[in-house]
Amino acid sequence: MTTPDTIFGKIIRREIPADIVYEDNLCLAFRDIAPQAPVHILVIPKNPIPKLEVAESNDHALLGHLLLTVKKVAAQVGLTNGYRVVINNGNDGGQTVDHLHLHILGGRQLQWPPG
Ligand code: 5GP
Repeated sequence: MTTPDTIFGKIIRREIPADIVYEDNLCLAFRDIAPQAPVHILVIPKNPIPKLEVAESNDHALLGHLLLTVKKVAAQVGLTNGYRVVINNGNDGGQTVDHLHLHILGGRQLQWPPG
């Protein structure tokens, strides 16, 4: 599947600014431009998988790395009282950017179920 470029590709390439909080060779983490909680950070792979449902078995190490990066970033920004990790997938999931991303939401008591 060909992967279209997105706004997140431009952030990876530093073509548009973002408040980047973490980077390594596989992924990037930056603050969401429209935060839904006091802390709202997106963790994205540099390899632009469009969405979770098209990830493949050879992405399994990358997907694990993204989750461990969530843990690392959450600790780095001081989310010591818990947080939520969200992946929106496709239309019904509310995905608006076709580049896989994990939302880290924290800094307040989050409600369940989400809307
Ligand atoms: P989705 O709805 O696809 O799960 O989440 C996409 C997220 O990307 C949204 O929370 C939205 O606020 C964020 N977003 C969209 N464009 C930009 C941007 O240019 N910069 C940053 N930092 N976040 C963005």
